[in-house]
Amino acid sequence: MNGGETVQETAVPGAGDSARVRARELEANLALVRSRIAAAERAAGRPAGSVRLVVITKTHPARDVRILSSLGVTDVGENRLQEAAPKVESCSDLELTWHFVGQLQTNKVRQVVEWAGYVHSVDRSRLVDALSAAAVRAGRDQPGRELGCLIQVNLDPDPGRGGVDPDGVPSLADAVAGAPGLRLDGVMAVAPLRGPYAGNAAAAFDRVADIASRMHEAHPTANMVSAGMSADLEEAVAAGATHVRIGSAVLGVRKPLG
Ligand SMILES: *Cc1c(COP(=O)(O)O)cnc(C)c1O
Repeated sequence: MNGGETVQETAVPGAGDSARVRARELEANLALVRSRIAAAERAAGRPAGSVRLVVITKTHPARDVRILSSLGVTDVGENRLQEAAPKVESCSDLELTWHFVGQLQTNKVRQVVEWAGYVHSVDRSRLVDALSAAAVRAGRDQPGRELGCLIQVNLDPDPGRGGVDPDGVPSLADAVAGAPGLRLDGVMAVAPLRGPYAGNAAAAFDRVADIASRMHEAHPTANMVSAGMSADLEEAVAAGATHVRIGSAVLGVRKPLG
Protein backbone atom coordinates (compact mmCIF):
# COMPACT_ATOMS: atom_id res chain seq x y z
CA MET A 1 0.00 0.00 0.00
CA ASN A 2 2.58 2.60 1.04
CA GLY A 3 5.76 1.25 -0.46
CA GLY A 4 7.12 -0.15 2.81
CA GLU A 5 8.35 2.31 5.37
CA THR A 6 11.20 0.27 6.77
CA VAL A 7 13.39 -2.61 5.76
CA GLN A 8 12.37 -4.49 8.90
CA GLU A 9 9.22 -5.78 7.31
CA THR A 10 11.19 -7.71 4.72
CA ALA A 11 13.50 -9.24 7.32
CA VAL A 12 12.66 -12.61 8.85
CA PRO A 13 9.63 -11.74 10.93
CA GLY A 14 9.88 -12.41 14.66
CA ALA A 15 7.01 -12.00 17.10
CA GLY A 16 7.85 -8.34 17.59
CA ASP A 17 7.71 -7.71 13.87
CA SER A 18 4.35 -9.33 13.38
CA ALA A 19 2.95 -7.31 16.29
CA ARG A 20 4.31 -4.19 14.62
CA VAL A 21 2.81 -5.15 11.28
CA ARG A 22 -0.58 -5.73 12.92
CA ALA A 23 -0.36 -2.39 14.74
CA ARG A 24 0.35 -0.63 11.47
CA GLU A 25 -2.50 -2.40 9.76
CA LEU A 26 -4.97 -1.42 12.48
CA GLU A 27 -3.65 2.14 12.47
CA ALA A 28 -4.22 2.45 8.72
CA ASN A 29 -7.68 0.87 8.87
CA LEU A 30 -8.66 3.07 11.78
CA ALA A 31 -7.51 6.19 9.96
CA LEU A 32 -9.64 5.22 6.99
CA VAL A 33 -12.73 4.59 9.13
CA ARG A 34 -12.24 7.84 11.01
CA SER A 35 -11.99 9.74 7.75
CA ARG A 36 -15.15 8.02 6.45
CA ILE A 37 -16.98 9.10 9.60
CA ALA A 38 -15.64 12.66 9.31
CA ALA A 39 -16.67 12.85 5.65
CA ALA A 40 -20.13 11.52 6.47
CA GLU A 41 -20.51 14.09 9.26
CA ARG A 42 -19.55 16.89 6.86
CA ALA A 43 -21.87 15.59 4.15
CA ALA A 44 -24.75 15.54 6.64
CA GLY A 45 -23.92 19.02 7.95
CA ARG A 46 -23.27 17.57 11.38
CA PRO A 47 -20.54 18.83 13.72
CA ALA A 48 -17.16 17.07 13.52
CA GLY A 49 -16.87 14.51 16.29
CA SER A 50 -20.62 14.13 16.79
CA VAL A 51 -20.50 10.43 15.89
CA ARG A 52 -18.77 8.05 18.24
CA LEU A 53 -16.89 5.04 16.95
CA VAL A 54 -17.44 1.74 18.73
CA VAL A 55 -15.00 -0.85 17.40
CA ILE A 56 -16.53 -4.32 17.46
CA THR A 57 -13.69 -6.67 18.37
CA LYS A 58 -15.52 -10.01 18.31
CA THR A 59 -13.38 -12.95 17.15
CA HIS A 60 -10.23 -10.83 17.45
CA PRO A 61 -7.78 -11.26 20.33
CA ALA A 62 -7.17 -9.04 23.33
CA ARG A 63 -3.86 -7.90 21.84
CA ASP A 64 -5.83 -6.19 19.06
CA VAL A 65 -7.86 -4.40 21.71
CA ARG A 66 -4.59 -3.19 23.29
CA ILE A 67 -3.40 -1.86 19.97
CA LEU A 68 -6.71 -0.09 19.40
CA SER A 69 -6.53 1.47 22.83
CA SER A 70 -3.02 2.75 22.10
CA LEU A 71 -4.44 4.30 18.92
CA GLY A 72 -7.02 6.27 20.88
CA VAL A 73 -10.03 3.97 20.65
CA THR A 74 -12.11 4.34 23.81
CA ASP A 75 -15.18 2.25 22.98
CA VAL A 76 -15.13 -1.41 22.06
CA GLY A 77 -17.91 -3.92 21.59
CA GLU A 78 -18.47 -7.65 21.77
CA ASN A 79 -21.39 -9.85 20.82
CA ARG A 80 -20.73 -13.09 22.69
CA LEU A 81 -20.35 -13.35 26.44
CA GLN A 82 -18.01 -16.35 26.62
CA GLU A 83 -15.61 -14.62 24.31
CA ALA A 84 -15.95 -11.20 25.87
CA ALA A 85 -15.39 -12.04 29.53
CA PRO A 86 -11.72 -13.16 29.33
CA LYS A 87 -10.93 -10.36 26.88
CA VAL A 88 -12.39 -7.73 29.17
CA GLU A 89 -10.48 -9.26 32.07
CA SER A 90 -7.14 -9.19 30.27
CA CYS A 91 -7.70 -5.55 29.24
CA SER A 92 -8.80 -4.37 32.67
CA ASP A 93 -5.81 -2.03 32.95
CA LEU A 94 -6.99 -0.04 29.90
CA GLU A 95 -9.38 2.91 29.90
CA LEU A 96 -12.14 1.38 27.83
CA THR A 97 -15.90 1.43 27.73
CA TRP A 98 -17.29 -1.98 26.74
CA HIS A 99 -20.47 -2.29 24.74
CA PHE A 100 -22.40 -5.52 24.46
CA VAL A 101 -24.18 -5.80 21.11
CA GLY A 102 -25.20 -9.46 20.89
CA GLN A 103 -28.25 -11.45 21.78
CA LEU A 104 -28.57 -12.12 25.48
CA GLN A 105 -30.16 -14.97 27.39
CA THR A 106 -31.80 -13.96 30.63
CA ASN A 107 -29.82 -16.56 32.60
CA LYS A 108 -26.50 -15.09 31.41
CA VAL A 109 -26.97 -11.46 32.34
CA ARG A 110 -24.96 -11.65 35.54
CA GLN A 111 -21.67 -11.52 33.67
CA VAL A 112 -22.57 -8.64 31.42
CA VAL A 113 -23.45 -6.30 34.27
CA GLU A 114 -19.95 -6.89 35.65
CA TRP A 115 -18.20 -5.21 32.75
CA ALA A 116 -20.51 -3.57 30.24
CA GLY A 117 -21.04 0.16 30.12
CA TYR A 118 -23.81 -0.36 27.60
CA VAL A 119 -26.03 -3.14 26.33
CA HIS A 120 -27.29 -2.31 22.83
CA SER A 121 -29.51 -5.35 22.44
CA VAL A 122 -32.35 -5.00 24.95
CA ASP A 123 -35.37 -6.43 23.17
CA ARG A 124 -37.86 -7.95 25.63
CA SER A 125 -39.31 -7.25 29.02
CA ARG A 126 -38.03 -10.44 30.64
CA LEU A 127 -34.54 -9.34 29.70
CA VAL A 128 -35.16 -5.92 31.26
CA ASP A 129 -36.21 -7.59 34.51
CA ALA A 130 -33.20 -9.91 34.51
CA LEU A 131 -30.73 -7.13 33.70
CA SER A 132 -32.22 -4.91 36.36
CA ALA A 133 -32.04 -7.58 39.05
CA ALA A 134 -28.43 -8.38 38.14
CA ALA A 135 -27.48 -4.71 37.95
CA VAL A 136 -28.90 -4.05 41.41
CA ARG A 137 -27.06 -7.06 42.81
CA ALA A 138 -23.84 -5.71 41.27
CA GLY A 139 -24.39 -2.35 42.95
CA ARG A 140 -25.24 -0.52 39.78
CA ASP A 141 -28.31 1.16 41.18
CA GLN A 142 -26.09 4.02 42.38
CA PRO A 143 -26.28 7.30 40.44
CA GLY A 144 -23.72 7.24 37.62
CA ARG A 145 -23.20 3.48 37.80
CA GLU A 146 -26.33 2.39 35.94
CA LEU A 147 -26.06 0.06 32.99
CA GLY A 148 -26.73 2.01 29.80
CA CYS A 149 -29.47 0.30 27.79
CA LEU A 150 -30.45 0.68 24.17
CA ILE A 151 -33.59 -0.88 22.78
CA GLN A 152 -32.76 -2.95 19.71
CA VAL A 153 -35.35 -2.41 17.01
CA ASN A 154 -35.91 -5.13 14.45
CA LEU A 155 -36.96 -3.98 10.99
CA ASP A 156 -36.36 -7.41 9.48
CA PRO A 157 -39.18 -9.97 9.09
CA ASP A 158 -36.80 -12.57 10.56
CA PRO A 159 -37.30 -12.41 14.35
CA GLY A 160 -34.14 -14.50 14.79
CA ARG A 161 -32.03 -11.44 14.19
CA GLY A 162 -32.93 -10.05 17.60
CA GLY A 163 -34.70 -6.83 18.42
CA VAL A 164 -38.28 -5.82 19.11
CA ASP A 165 -40.87 -4.72 16.55
CA PRO A 166 -41.16 -0.95 16.24
CA ASP A 167 -44.60 -1.17 17.91
CA GLY A 168 -43.06 -2.70 21.01
CA VAL A 169 -40.45 0.01 21.53
CA PRO A 170 -42.41 2.51 23.67
CA SER A 171 -43.48 0.05 26.35
CA LEU A 172 -40.04 -1.53 26.50
CA ALA A 173 -38.47 1.93 26.80
CA ASP A 174 -40.80 2.72 29.69
CA ALA A 175 -39.84 -0.56 31.35
CA VAL A 176 -36.11 0.22 31.10
CA ALA A 177 -36.63 3.78 32.30
CA GLY A 178 -38.41 2.49 35.39
CA ALA A 179 -35.99 -0.34 36.16
CA PRO A 180 -33.51 0.08 39.02
CA GLY A 181 -29.88 -0.21 37.92
CA LEU A 182 -30.66 0.52 34.27
CA ARG A 183 -30.54 3.79 32.33
CA LEU A 184 -32.47 4.18 29.09
CA ASP A 185 -30.01 5.60 26.56
CA GLY A 186 -31.57 5.09 23.13
CA VAL A 187 -32.08 2.81 20.17
CA MET A 188 -29.95 0.29 18.27
CA ALA A 189 -30.59 -1.29 14.88
CA VAL A 190 -28.95 -3.37 12.19
CA ALA A 191 -29.84 -2.82 8.53
CA PRO A 192 -32.34 -5.54 7.54
CA LEU A 193 -31.38 -8.28 5.10
CA ARG A 194 -34.99 -9.09 4.20
CA GLY A 195 -38.34 -7.40 3.95
CA PRO A 196 -39.20 -3.91 2.71
CA TYR A 197 -35.91 -2.39 3.91
CA ALA A 198 -33.60 -5.03 2.45
CA GLY A 199 -30.92 -3.35 0.39
CA ASN A 200 -32.08 0.09 1.48
CA ALA A 201 -30.06 0.97 4.54
CA ALA A 202 -30.83 4.67 4.14
CA ALA A 203 -34.59 4.09 4.45
CA ALA A 204 -34.09 1.66 7.32
CA PHE A 205 -31.95 4.15 9.25
CA ASP A 206 -34.46 6.94 8.60
CA ARG A 207 -37.08 4.73 10.20
CA VAL A 208 -34.76 4.08 13.14
CA ALA A 209 -34.19 7.82 13.52
CA ASP A 210 -37.92 8.33 13.62
CA ILE A 211 -38.33 5.71 16.33
CA ALA A 212 -35.44 7.26 18.24
CA SER A 213 -36.88 10.75 18.10
CA ARG A 214 -40.20 9.50 19.42
CA MET A 215 -38.36 7.79 22.27
CA HIS A 216 -36.46 11.00 22.91
CA GLU A 217 -39.73 12.95 23.28
CA ALA A 218 -40.92 10.58 25.98
CA HIS A 219 -37.47 10.15 27.57
CA PRO A 220 -35.34 13.26 26.93
CA THR A 221 -32.09 11.72 28.19
CA ALA A 222 -32.31 8.81 25.74
CA ASN A 223 -30.25 10.33 22.95
CA MET A 224 -28.16 7.50 21.53
CA VAL A 225 -28.82 6.11 18.06
CA SER A 226 -26.57 3.10 17.47
CA ALA A 227 -26.70 2.30 13.76
CA GLY A 228 -24.25 1.68 10.97
CA MET A 229 -21.59 -0.98 10.46
CA SER A 230 -18.61 -1.28 8.13
CA ALA A 231 -20.74 -1.43 4.98
CA ASP A 232 -23.29 1.26 5.77
CA LEU A 233 -21.87 3.78 8.21
CA GLU A 234 -22.38 6.66 5.74
CA GLU A 235 -26.13 5.99 5.50
CA ALA A 236 -26.37 5.74 9.28
CA VAL A 237 -24.52 9.01 9.88
CA ALA A 238 -26.71 10.72 7.27
CA ALA A 239 -29.78 9.52 9.16
CA GLY A 240 -28.49 10.82 12.50
CA ALA A 241 -26.65 7.91 14.14
CA THR A 242 -24.70 8.98 17.21
CA HIS A 243 -22.77 5.69 17.46
CA VAL A 244 -21.48 3.47 14.66
CA ARG A 245 -20.42 -0.11 15.37
CA ILE A 246 -17.51 -1.01 13.14
CA GLY A 247 -15.82 -4.41 13.02
CA SER A 248 -14.30 -5.65 9.79
CA ALA A 249 -13.35 -2.24 8.35
CA VAL A 250 -10.98 -1.79 11.31
CA LEU A 251 -9.92 -5.34 12.17
CA GLY A 252 -10.19 -7.12 8.84
CA VAL A 253 -12.35 -10.04 7.82
CA ARG A 254 -13.43 -12.29 10.67
CA LYS A 255 -13.24 -16.02 10.89
CA PRO A 256 -16.81 -17.33 10.61
CA LEU A 257 -18.63 -17.30 13.95
CA GLY A 258 -18.70 -20.82 15.34
C1 LIG B 1 -20.30 -7.73 14.19
C2 LIG B 1 -21.26 -6.64 14.48
C3 LIG B 1 -21.03 -5.34 14.01
C4 LIG B 1 -19.84 -4.97 13.15
O1 LIG B 1 -20.02 -5.48 11.86
P1 LIG B 1 -18.99 -5.17 10.65
O2 LIG B 1 -19.81 -5.41 9.44
O3 LIG B 1 -17.87 -6.11 10.81
O4 LIG B 1 -18.58 -3.75 10.78
C5 LIG B 1 -21.96 -4.38 14.34
N1 LIG B 1 -23.05 -4.66 15.09
C6 LIG B 1 -23.30 -5.89 15.56
C7 LIG B 1 -24.54 -6.11 16.36
C8 LIG B 1 -22.42 -6.92 15.27
O5 LIG B 1 -22.68 -8.15 15.74
